[in-house]
Amino acid sequence: MAHRYQAGMCRARGCSRTVRSNAYSPFCSSCTALDIRYGDPRQRRITQLEMKRPLRAVARLRKRNPHADWHLMAENWNQLVRRCQEISNSRDTDIRYRRQAANVIVQIAESMSADEVVDWTAACYIVEETNPQRFVSDRAFWCCMLHVLRRAGKSGRVFHVGGKDQLPHPPQAHEGHRL
Ligand SMILES: [Zn+2]
Repeated sequence: MAHRYQAGMCRARGCSRTVRSNAYSPFCSSCTALDIRYGDPRQRRITQLEMKRPLRAVARLRKRNPHADWHLMAENWNQLVRRCQEISNSRDTDIRYRRQAANVIVQIAESMSADEVVDWTAACYIVEETNPQRFVSDRAFWCCMLHVLRRAGKSGRVFHVGGKDQLPHPPQAHEGHRL
């Protein structure tokens, strides 16, 4: 049973909107949408413009190091996809949320090649390395990376927000800043 929150101010710093009573989220609807999509209400997404240079850098890396273990990275992704396909096809109702998560990975795999996934993922890590302050937590970084992958593959609408199945992330994690 998910925790319910009392009515009051949105708990996101700098936000003065109100939260209705008995809410599933400690945040107002706008901040909840950001929390679900980007892993934290304070987190801003990685823009397409921001990805251009890092993607070019990855392309240069590939060119300069053709014999590096690129295929191993692609194979890691393929293994993950195979595992997610199993979960996705499972009829076990206890793992409904895992199955939804697995579906997201399967959708990405259907829309991009493994090499493309490696390139875009590597580019996200370059964004992070270039500007570590850019992400408020590790989870925010992962959520942004997932958002980038889904957008890059154009696998449907990027995250439906506000559906009845969607709950925000557990509140305690909001305290944790990136080290
Ligand atoms: Zn808010």
